[in-house]
Amino acid sequence: MDCIFCKIIKGEIPSQKIYEDELCLAFFDIDPQAPKHAVIIPKTHIASLEDITAENSGLIAHIYAKVPEIAKKLGVNESGYRVVTNCGTDGGQTVGHIHFHLLGGRLLGWPPG
Ligand code: AMP
Ligand code: ZN
Repeated sequence: MDCIFCKIIKGEIPSQKIYEDELCLAFFDIDPQAPKHAVIIPKTHIASLEDITAENSGLIAHIYAKVPEIAKKLGVNESGYRVVTNCGTDGGQTVGHIHFHLLGGRLLGWPPG
């Protein structure tokens, strides 16, 4: 499968890793939208939020359970941050492997563009 995030998991594309365990990987976004911008992905290929099921939702829960640790590694746990997942065309999703953006290091605007 031609998925750039699966290639990052396999080490075929380099990444600046922040956190890794048997189920997920966090790395720095190549095009940061905030001073601190991590991308967190499950090591299992799930295309988007539309593909979450009762069977694989534990992976998503696992990722959220690791968010505070990743935020601490980025130094934004006290200042605050945002976790966001883009889904589909209107949601602005450009990579078809579900991922969670963790953004911080500046005051983030709302509503998003
Ligand atoms: P989205 O647009 O929500 O699908 O997010 C995809 C994100 O992946 C974007 O923020 C990209 O900058 C990021 N991205 C794409 N390729 C890489 C890469 N090789 N390493 C790190 N981040 C990447
Ligand atoms: Zn993938």
